[in-house]
Amino acid sequence: MLRILMASSEAWPLLKTGGLADVAGSLPPALAALGHDVRLLLPAYPAALQAAAGEGIARVGGVELAGLAVDILQTCLPGTQVAVWLLDYPPMFARPGNPYLQPDGRPWWDNEHRFALFARAVVALALDRVGLGWRPDVVHCNDWQAGLAPALLSQEPRRPATVFTIHNLSYQGLFPGSAFDALQLPESLRGYQGLEYHGQLSFIKGGIVYADRVNTVSPRYAREIQSGAMGCGLDGLLRHRGTRLSGILNGIDADVWNPATDPHLAQTYDRDHLTRKAANGEFLRRRMALPRTQQVPLIGFIGRLVEQKGVDWLLQAIDALGDRAHWVVLGSGERGFERALQERAQRLPQRIAVHIGYDETLAHQIEAGADLFLMPSRFEPCGLNQMYSLRYGTVPVVHAVGGLADTVVDCTAAALAAGTANGFCFAQPGPAALLEALERALAAFADAALWRRLQRAGMALDLSWRCSAHSYGRLYQRAIADRASG
Ligand code: ADP
Repeated sequence: MLRILMASSEAWPLLKTGGLADVAGSLPPALAALGHDVRLLLPAYPAALQAAAGEGIARVGGVELAGLAVDILQTCLPGTQVAVWLLDYPPMFARPGNPYLQPDGRPWWDNEHRFALFARAVVALALDRVGLGWRPDVVHCNDWQAGLAPALLSQEPRRPATVFTIHNLSYQGLFPGSAFDALQLPESLRGYQGLEYHGQLSFIKGGIVYADRVNTVSPRYAREIQSGAMGCGLDGLLRHRGTRLSGILNGIDADVWNPATDPHLAQTYDRDHLTRKAANGEFLRRRMALPRTQQVPLIGFIGRLVEQKGVDWLLQAIDALGDRAHWVVLGSGERGFERALQERAQRLPQRIAVHIGYDETLAHQIEAGADLFLMPSRFEPCGLNQMYSLRYGTVPVVHAVGGLADTVVDCTAAALAAGTANGFCFAQPGPAALLEALERALAAFADAALWRRLQRAGMALDLSWRCSAHSYGRLYQRAIADRASG
């Protein structure tokens, strides 16, 4: 049994802006189920306080961090026994809306101060300077918001082991170089071998340079980020840390995303009752005012409408397939992409349905009702939707990158013979390769027996957090061993 302090700036259901929240909300309970003692730390944002209110929130301590008096509140991750500590410092965290951005979309003007304070709170709790009578064996920091914590802990002779997880390398927490002095960081962290990145202060480097172990959210992404093409300027450093860098696939919440029990569905189903899935297709087509046919496959897409997700390739695929496919798209993001999708939906309502916005219920209904699910991401550290699709018997078509490549097995003759084929992958970036994969998928869709094999292979996978939690347990042990051997 290990004592684990997990630091994350978001955790579902307390606060969510992206996949990090899913991990920080799911991994701690999965670790607890394996017998570990996990405590989660996040800032006391108003939304988090509101979401935790039902669990009860108590002040358990206070501490002075870089001259600021902060409180530590304690609550519980809703629906679990996992203890959550909230760093309460209202001048920095009691702000409405997005935790990182002002209402006009610009970053909060003092993010470096806010997340340096967060890192200092991690250090104080890790060394029990708050006096809560608990010391972790390992501190698990996530993304740039917690990146300074491993750096600051590296200065402490009696520190616990540290693990740093990169959920998306393109967000690095870069600030003007002058922030180094403003934050009064230890001199030994200065310079390009420390926290400096081309004259700027890099929070993510704090994790990558100083943590005992670094990992990302899929084995493939761990390799990709060591290449010049996908290393976001940090590939050299990541190669340097290569022997300490690994990848662990995220799991999915197998209770929330279970077609056999999903309350959002018109009809529940499982691997042995796949014919029942069709009722969800009919429901979705009716809801989205699409023609009620089973001859033309319905292709789903859910996600942020940004370049990373390959929305421009998606648009080209919609145009190229003409009336051989129907589409249902759910998402929000860049205005240009939103408009381009809406324009097609208005022009071709009998083929394309678009819902701009965030809608959890519709997301479940698309996963159940679509025949195919498209994820043409340029890069994808792990990705969740392809795993939901596999579980729901909705065959994924994906760009073979990151976690997409690690979860979707292309329908080749060899994979079919081995019984592992569960979707369609394209290796070359761009719409031409995407279309080629879609053409293969449409041909397979016309072969009912083959289609069932693909669906069943996907539905048979165990994509739950249990597996990943075991892997994290082993990673923590390695970090502790590294720490012990100096
Ligand atoms: P990322 O973290 O890069 O946005 P992931 O695939 O890892 O992508 O996770 C995105 C999560 O957010 C998934 O659970 C996905 O279903 C959900 N999601 C994204 N956009 C929407 C939306 N518009 N409505 C409902 N759920 C959405």
